[in-house]
Amino acid sequence: MDFFFCLPIIFGCPTKIKPEGNQGARICPRCHNAAMFSAKSRTWFELCFVPLIPLNSKHVWMCGICQLQVHVQPGWEPQVAQPGYQHPQVQGQYAPSQSAGYGPGYVQPQK
Ligand SMILES: [Zn+2]
Repeated sequence: MDFFFCLPIIFGCPTKIKPEGNQGARICPRCHNAAMFSAKSRTWFELCFVPLIPLNSKHVWMCGICQLQVHVQPGWEPQVAQPGYQHPQVQGQYAPSQSAGYGPGYVQPQK
């Protein structure tokens, strides 16, 4: 049964982020872009790039631009982005056009 000894076994515990719900964008406390959304962060035991066992999951706030992750905690949540919100420092750079509305920088989860 030499086959099993030659087979390279690659395993790891990557964390996958899955956006939750369809909430409005929140303002990131670090980069101040309206790109924060609530997400579920789940760590998987993965063998040869196939997720096998979910190890643990937690709810986080995730910024789609600077990748900041904040644990969901009672008593704090990111500020809701109001229509017309613009970045306080680089105004106009990330601000969407007034007619298009907000589009958080993440890909919708596949069902
Ligand atoms: Zn950010």
